[in-house]
This record gives sequence, C-alpha cells and structure tokens, in this order.
Amino acid sequence: MRKRIIAGNWKMYKKMGEAKAFIAEVKGRLPITAKVEMVICPPSPYLSELVNESEGTSLKIGAQTMHDVEEGAFTGEVSPSMLADMNVEYVILGHSERRQYFNETDESVNKKVHAAFAHQLTPIVCVGESLEEREEGKTVERVSSQVEKAFNGISADQAKAAIIAYEPIWAIGTGKTATSEDANEVCKEIRQEISKLYDESTAAAVRIQYGGSVKPENIAELLSMEHIDGALVGGASLVADSFLKLVELA
Ligand code: 13P
Repeated sequence: MRKRIIAGNWKMYKKMGEAKAFIAEVKGRLPITAKVEMVICPPSPYLSELVNESEGTSLKIGAQTMHDVEEGAFTGEVSPSMLADMNVEYVILGHSERRQYFNETDESVNKKVHAAFAHQLTPIVCVGESLEEREEGKTVERVSSQVEKAFNGISADQAKAAIIAYEPIWAIGTGKTATSEDANEVCKEIRQEISKLYDESTAAAVRIQYGGSVKPENIAELLSMEHIDGALVGGASLVADSFLKLVELA
C-alpha cells in the first residue's frame, strides 16, 4: 500500500513572518496520526528556519530546486549537501517552471536526481506535457521520455523511494484541472514506464502525485484514482486552512 503524500510548492511567495505563522498554525492543528505524508517546499531562504519550526512534527520540509554539485563557483545556487546539512528531506526537481525559465533539461534533471540520492534527499521529479503536446496526442510519449531520462542510471531501490509528480503544464495555476480519468491514465502510463525500466515491484512502489490546480474541492476525486498517490499543490498550499483541508481529505 503506497502512503499518500501531499506536498505544497510555495514557489516565490510569502515573507518569512508569514511562512513561520503558517507552520505555527499547521503545527497546532496537525492530525495526530500521520496517515498522510506532508511536505512544505518554501523558498530557499526559509528552509533552515522552517525545518527548525517543524521539528518533532509530522510536517516535513523540502526545497524547490538545487544544483547537482557539492560546491563551487555557481553564483546564486544551493547545493545538495547544503540542503542535507540543514536537514531538508525532499527536493522538487525539474518543475516545468524551472524547465521553462531556467533552462533545466532532462539531462540536468537526471544529474540532480543522482545528487539527491547521494545526499539522502527524496526527489519529487516533475514531468508533464504542454497544451500543444497534449493537443497533438503526444502526452504519453513526452511524459514517458521525461521519466526515462530522469531515471537514467538510478537503481531500482532508489526509484522505489522516488516520488514522481505528473503536472500537465496547461493545468498549472490556470484553474484547469485534468479530469481525474485523464490524470489517472497518464499516471498509469508513468507507472508502466517505471515497470519497463525496472520491474513490476518497483512500479508498484513508486509514488505518483498529480499537480495542477489541485484544491480541496477536487482532491478527493483525484485521489480516488488507482494510480494517483498524492498531490503537488501550488496556490492552495499557501493558506494553512486549505493545506490542512487537503491533508484531511487525502
Ligand atoms: P497550482 O496548484 O497553483 O496550479 O500549481 C501547481 C504546481 O505547479 C505545483 O508544483
């Protein structure tokens, strides 16, 4: 049985005070039994502080991106060892906004997936098609190729521990959600790709999230689908009330 996972991607939102207030509020209202894995991915300047604030609770902290090398002359970047040193546990890799605005490629995402495992960070590997690709019937081809390249050289044991987030680009921040059937179909194809690359037991273990305009109103329907194990949430994760609602409904 795959454990459900709800992750909030805050993107470039919130001031430090707001971030701390969010954690304080969620902490006080967290469900006693953590049947769902909960992760918040704040902007990088807040990581260390939020790790401290959430210590001892079932709320985990993740980064939104990282570089793939230990250290070096890479102005503005954050390294995997820095994240590990701050006790960050997850890292989102290859988000479509990183691919679109910061030139991340399948190859650079693959290097980062290796780096994440080398530093005991759990990668949340994002894949997803553009509207054009969907309209041309290329969704499965695109998403399968992203998965294959991201997992190049990754062992089956590592793949089992990875999280894949299927985020159709046209559904991000647009209010348009893929229908639960469509989302499930693509998540099923992703699982099949993992089965092809590894084996059935790896495919059965890997957790696949859906992302793109997830909110309390649609999460139950999405998570009722066989191949959807959680959600990667942008906008609706910014407010403690709605994040907690998502967790409760998961
Ligand atoms: P929204 O939930 O705001 O559509 O964002 C989705 C996303 O990109 C999460 O990574």
